[in-house]
Amino acid sequence: MRDLYDLTYDEVAAELGRMGEPAFRAGQVYQWLGRGAGDWPAMTNLPASLRERLSRTFRLDGLRLSERRVSAIDGTIKCAFLLQDGNLVESVLMRYRHGYSICLSSQAGCRMGCAFCASARAGFGRSLTSGEMLQQVVRFAAMEGVPVHHAVVMGIGEPLDNYTELVRFLRCLNDPRGFGMGLRHVSVSTCGLVDKMIDFTDEGLPVTLSVSLHAPNDGIRRRLMPIAARWTMDELLEACRRHTRVTGRRVTFEYALFDGVNDRPEHAEELAERIRGMLAHVNLIPANELESGGLKQSSGNAVRRFQDILAARGIQVTVRRELGSDIMAACGQLRRRLEEAKDD
Ligand code: SAH
Repeated sequence: MRDLYDLTYDEVAAELGRMGEPAFRAGQVYQWLGRGAGDWPAMTNLPASLRERLSRTFRLDGLRLSERRVSAIDGTIKCAFLLQDGNLVESVLMRYRHGYSICLSSQAGCRMGCAFCASARAGFGRSLTSGEMLQQVVRFAAMEGVPVHHAVVMGIGEPLDNYTELVRFLRCLNDPRGFGMGLRHVSVSTCGLVDKMIDFTDEGLPVTLSVSLHAPNDGIRRRLMPIAARWTMDELLEACRRHTRVTGRRVTFEYALFDGVNDRPEHAEELAERIRGMLAHVNLIPANELESGGLKQSSGNAVRRFQDILAARGIQVTVRRELGSDIMAACGQLRRRLEEAKDD
């Protein structure tokens, strides 16, 4: 069985052509995928016989809802989805002033091992297919019945560690014959796989590149992120500068603040110095604390002080709003709990 959501428009058209179907069928089928159809009867404008034949080769239920939680504080909705092979992923639907945004996972688990991140701790299952990423957007939007105009690949996993499927997913998500999301409304977040960042820049996809920096220098970065031992910050920042040179696009730096580790005034000064002159924006994240692990969240004062120092040096800086704090909406927390519950 293949997942129909894994197919591009051209592949759907080729399949239907082989089945002897007229050319317009591909548009109909792809439109249903854009609408997040979860079963064959949903595709009401297709002849029952065609649906029956398609269902012998393809599945539409590659993603099944396992758990759904709604935040009482801000209405954020988090879902855990079960994949065909029993792996779990998480996706989050957030409401912003400008509309709805979905945060999706690119892998079941993660291999990057960042010290502060829950995703790494529940272990690595596998990378997701493009269709599994696509369904987190289109099925979730269909389930909730809301218009979703934004997507961020900031859930579980390292998207650039799943490069080919990620790029395929972005093209499918963007295809106007399907869901048709504008890629300017999509952000991809990476911990800094420099070689893959260079390739990604050259794909020419107008998405926003977010880079998880979390440190002003290599010493601190290596304490927090194993990937920092593979590439230096100089190499990483050069890949960001290249991204801006080639695409003209601004890079976002994610910076989670941990008490005493990377949130001191001198760290802010050093960071400002390192990224001076770049077309960049720093997004400060009041860190989520893991139950175990020595890293503590910075105080509100430390966050403000850090922000003020960057702003005074002409760096564009914002503090990320916390959403869904009551439903473990952050970074692999729910999957980890569900995986742990499995082992009990
Ligand atoms: N692997 C990608 C995307 C997934 S993580 C990346 O590293 O960017 C999405 C963001 O959440 C990253 O910036 C990550 O560093 C951050 N994050 C993970 N755990 C966190 C925590 N406990 N507190 C604050 N931010 C965290």
